[in-house]
Parts: sequence; structure tokens; C-alpha cells
Amino acid sequence: MTDLKSLTREELTDYIISLGEKKFRASQLYEWMHVHLAGSLDDMTNLPATLKERLKQECIYTVADMAERHISKEDGTQKFLFSMADGQMIESVFMPYKHGNSVCISSQAGCRMGCAFCASTIGGLVRNLTAAEMLEQIYAITRITGERVSNVVVMGTGEPLDNYDNLVRFIRLLTDEKGQNLSQRSITVSTCGLAEKIGRLAEEHFQITLALSLHAVTDEKRRQIMPVARSYSIAQLMEACRGYFETTGRRITFEYSLIAGVNDTDADVEGLSSLARSVGAHVNLIPVNPVTETSFVPPDRRQADVFKNKLEKNHINVTIRRSMGRDIDGACGQLRRKSLGLEKE
Ligand code: SAH
Repeated sequence: MTDLKSLTREELTDYIISLGEKKFRASQLYEWMHVHLAGSLDDMTNLPATLKERLKQECIYTVADMAERHISKEDGTQKFLFSMADGQMIESVFMPYKHGNSVCISSQAGCRMGCAFCASTIGGLVRNLTAAEMLEQIYAITRITGERVSNVVVMGTGEPLDNYDNLVRFIRLLTDEKGQNLSQRSITVSTCGLAEKIGRLAEEHFQITLALSLHAVTDEKRRQIMPVARSYSIAQLMEACRGYFETTGRRITFEYSLIAGVNDTDADVEGLSSLARSVGAHVNLIPVNPVTETSFVPPDRRQADVFKNKLEKNHINVTIRRSMGRDIDGACGQLRRKSLGLEKE
């Protein structure tokens, strides 16, 4: 089966021609999918019925079916649970900001990275998401809310660089001038630190922002909370980050989940400062979201501010991420787990 919405414009054109159709049919189809965000082939009024029938037989037309929608009364954040064709459930978040709407998407159903504080990884990896399934999270949210999406962060369930080819395809499609034409600069990809893949991503020469989930400043501590740290040392990651910056000119972001008593000491401030300085990174502090199955707790607001101020004294560019949608299920992956009936009450 041909996965229509995952095809690049060139691939779609080749495919349509292989069916004995005229080339302009490919343009029409592409526009229906990626500009009008058509929810089905039947919506495509200017395509011949015979072609639509053929496509229905030979192709997959990916749509994200909304299974749940939760709207925060506090800040307008909306969390969506989407059902995929095979019944897999995935989570996406819509966040309205003054400067535009942001959507956080999942890149995999489940995750195999095993970070100790993260809910998304508890059931392991089920499968990769296709490029179409990544796009559809944004398209479906646009259809449902009627709002334009101006920023996309690949920070939901899954490790995007563990699904590398589909991720790259997704970025190409989302930024294609004949599709949504989103600027590459409005896309952020977050990784737990697969060093070789960071090097490969740099070679794509995208203008996207790369966020590295650092969370600890020594290899020893990082290994305790992130199993991936057994494969790549912090030194290797810093080298990959420097390479990414040199090749793309894009400044790296470090994500640092503050966990009380684990990574919030003065020594951590100093270690984080010197790592951030070494690659010119911006630091994003995220007070850890408590997950039912884990015992990690965030420092209180005042302690988090103290940590931030100390970084600033070291001339590090730092922000604390505002927690959004707290009233509609905190941390990543929790909604999906709840829907699967897996989360312990
Ligand atoms: N796998 C990628 C992207 C998904 S996780 C990555 O590791 O970056 C997105 C971000 O949320 C990561 O920085 C991750 O470490 C962080 N995160 C996961 N669980 C969290 C929690 N309970 N509280 C705060 N941040 C969390």
C-alpha cells in the first residue's frame, strides 16, 4: 500500500504518472492533502471519482482520529489523544501563545530510551510513526481548532532521532513551499542525545532548532537517570552539538529537568554553566513533572529561581519553562498511558 501523505511532491508525481494519470492530478492531490488538510479522499471535489476509487484501493490515506480532547481552563492548552489506523493511541498538545500557536507532537508510539523520570517510556516502544502520522497531528489539530499553527516542537512521546528517516521526511513535507510552508526556524526537535544521529541531522542543513535533553552534567549521574548515557558520553554529545552549530549556524538548546535533590546543587550549576558555555547553548529549565510511577519531585518555585539566577550570574542564557495545562494531565505520555488503562491510580 502506498502511504499517500508521506510521499514528497516528486514521489507523488511519479506515482500518479505510474497510474497513467496526468501530472497536474498530483498537484491537485498534494494541495488537498497539505494545504487544505482534507480529512478524506472524498472531500477532494475536483478529482475524478475513478481516480479516487483507485487510490482507495491502492493507498493509505492517513488521518488522526480524535479520541479525546482536554482543554485547560487555566491557560487554553489543549491535549489531544489521537487514534491511528491500527488502533495505536498518540498524544499531541496545542499551546496558544501571544506570539502564535505551538503544537507538540509525538514521533513514536511509546519509546525505548528508558529515561527514569518519563512516562512515555514505561511501556517501551510499540512502533515508529510515519511522516504522515506526524503531520496529521498538526493537520487534525488545525482542522479541529480552526487555528493556524506557527510553531512545532517534536517533544511528545518518542525519540525523534530513533525514527530518523520519517522525521526528516516529515520536516521536508511540513516546510515544503507547496504545502504548509512552515519555516524551518519554527520547528524544534528534541533528542535525548543520539550523538551520531545529531551529526547526520547537521548534514541535512536544516534551519531547525535542536534541543538536547541533558538533565545531568556528569556521565555518572546522567547514566543513573538516562540509560542512553551508557552509549554516549557527555563529551561526545558536546562535540556533536558543536558540530551541529558549526554546520548549521543554529544555537543549541539544553533542556534540563530540575529534580529536587538529584541535579539541583551548586556543583550542577557550575557544570551546566561550563557545558552551556562550551557550545554556546541556551538553557531551558523544566521543573520535573511528577509521574505517578516515579518518585521524582520538582524543587519549589523559589529554589528553581535560585538555580536560574546562579546560571545567569555565570552569563548563561536561561529560561524556566512555564508549565502549561497542569489541570489536564501533566507530563508527557500520561494521557496515553491513562487511555491504555496502564497508569496506576
Ligand atoms: N525523546 C526526546 C523528546 C521527547 S521528551 C528527548 O528526550 O528529548 C521531551 C522532553 O521532556 C525531554 O527533555 C524529556 O527529558 C522531558 N521530560 C520527560 N519526562 C519529563 C517529566 N516527567 N518532567 C519534565 N520533563 C520531562
